[in-house]
Amino acid sequence: MAIRKIITYPHPVLKEAAAPVEKITPEILSLFADMADTMYAAPGIGLAANQVGVLKRVIIFDLSREGENKKLTALINPEIIWAEGETTHEEACLSVIDYSAEVRRSAQVKVTALNLAGEPMELEGEGLLAICLQHEIDHLNGILYIDRISSLKRMLYKRRLKKILKVEAL
Ligand SMILES: [Zn+2]
Repeated sequence: MAIRKIITYPHPVLKEAAAPVEKITPEILSLFADMADTMYAAPGIGLAANQVGVLKRVIIFDLSREGENKKLTALINPEIIWAEGETTHEEACLSVIDYSAEVRRSAQVKVTALNLAGEPMELEGEGLLAICLQHEIDHLNGILYIDRISSLKRMLYKRRLKKILKVEAL
């Protein structure tokens, strides 16, 4: 197990769609283990394989609060099969440095996926779980939450990011 480097915007790999996992191989299991290490070290509540530069449809998340037992979930080839309602939540992303913004999403979703044993599963969520599922599945389709905000906000962020990256490069 190892912590992998989290790729940040505007790296082009974050814009690419990930390919379905055809078989749960040892490689996929070690990707999962590394993603978990990487997410907890960051720390973050969710991570998609794109964010560590692997274009496979694997997401993980853990929405447990501090002091609670960890509740790590991995979904392989997740797909939203049903969505309802509307909610707005302030989102951030490990791949979008130094930014957060309100994003409008479905309030409830139902997702099908495979678990790490390759068995089909279904998951229904609302609140933070629904938002997290949509955010992470977006990653697998090459979409970042900043693609879902107004173009003006995105432009202002890009401008600010340029300054941040310039300072970091010094
Ligand atoms: Zn993200």
